[in-house]
Amino acid sequence: MDYEAFFTGELDSLRQEGRYRIFAELERRRGAFPRATHHIEGDLRDVTVWCSNDYLGMGQHPKVLGAMHETLDRCGAGAGGTRNISGTTHQHAQLEAELADLHGKEAALLFTSGYVSNWAALSTLAARLPDCVVLSDAGNHASMIEGIRHSRAECQVFAHNDWRDLDRRLTAIGPDRAKLVAFESVYSMDGDIAPIAEILDVCEAHGAMSYIDEVHAVGLYGPRGGGVAEREGLMDRITVIEGTLGKAYGVMGGYIAGSNAVCDFVRSFASGFIFTTALPPALAAGATASIRHLKDSNAEREAHRDRVATVRARLKAAGIPMLDNPSHIIPVMVGDPRHCKQISDWLLEHHAIYVQPINYPTVPRGTERLRITPSPVHSDGDIDRLVEALSECWSRCALSRVPAAA
Ligand code: PMP
Repeated sequence: MDYEAFFTGELDSLRQEGRYRIFAELERRRGAFPRATHHIEGDLRDVTVWCSNDYLGMGQHPKVLGAMHETLDRCGAGAGGTRNISGTTHQHAQLEAELADLHGKEAALLFTSGYVSNWAALSTLAARLPDCVVLSDAGNHASMIEGIRHSRAECQVFAHNDWRDLDRRLTAIGPDRAKLVAFESVYSMDGDIAPIAEILDVCEAHGAMSYIDEVHAVGLYGPRGGGVAEREGLMDRITVIEGTLGKAYGVMGGYIAGSNAVCDFVRSFASGFIFTTALPPALAAGATASIRHLKDSNAEREAHRDRVATVRARLKAAGIPMLDNPSHIIPVMVGDPRHCKQISDWLLEHHAIYVQPINYPTVPRGTERLRITPSPVHSDGDIDRLVEALSECWSRCALSRVPAAA
């Protein structure tokens, strides 16, 4: 077989469909967020980033940087091993205690990313619970889907956010089997929020274990940043809460929080936990500082909400179509991969605005979009420039606008 020809052929079809991924090479600058330097063909350009998952700018927060510097200087770079073999440092233990406290759980367990935490925890639980059937929301993230697949347990996909469909399926499965219900709180691409209370009612009625991904909610929702489940007073009813340290907390890493038994079980059986080098202690210290800060401070969350509302109102006034949702994620709907890329290129080239196009398979075909994520540090001027530039793109591509409500 001509392997090279195969690879280039596949890549060419991606290009023809307009969904070949090109990464903008950015350099983040201390204290400058949402500004960054764009390295392009030897040139350096200042850009405003509108698609970062560092939702609150905590990746630049002095407390986070201070903790990381201090730990790096004191403890060095790497953890030096897997968690089992010399890689569990005091910083890991502190961070796990902080996370357990954040979610009101007995324990927490760290992984190298949110992706790995979902993959490792779900694959382990679903594979080892006897005769387990997994009920997975149709909108679940790839990391959950892959983990469930890897378990080889039976999986039923229930209609997105549809607790009635979940209820019907659990009824049909009956009481004798182990059941694991996996869903998210804030869905990353549509920004909609799960009916968590209803899903938990159904889980409890059928004796199912609940597993929630709060990756796009931790740090952002709830009085201490514990996520949507904290805001709604539901954390104690959820078996496993999964989250990331790489988005609102601005650092890197993933985790699950739950009872001592469930965390110890995953710790003891999950290959994605056991056989990989632990996070660097400086990252763990930075994440702990970030979580502690956001437990005490509401200022970032309030400023964030204000910026999100302002961007939404301004886009609405300009007739730019958005998905309506109750979260901080603003999906601006383009509906075509080529237009989506053209707009993203135009914004970068002519307005120094960086928003990455989101295409299939991340979202269904025909729903290609720009996923705008405001942060507390986007100014009114930044918002004006974004809306004006998008409006110009809409006219250039002759895309339809949403008429103003009468
Ligand atoms: N879950 C969801 C819903 C996500 O959107 C993502 C990442 N985009 C992850 C998990 C993985 O988290 P991380 O980036 O920390 O690997």
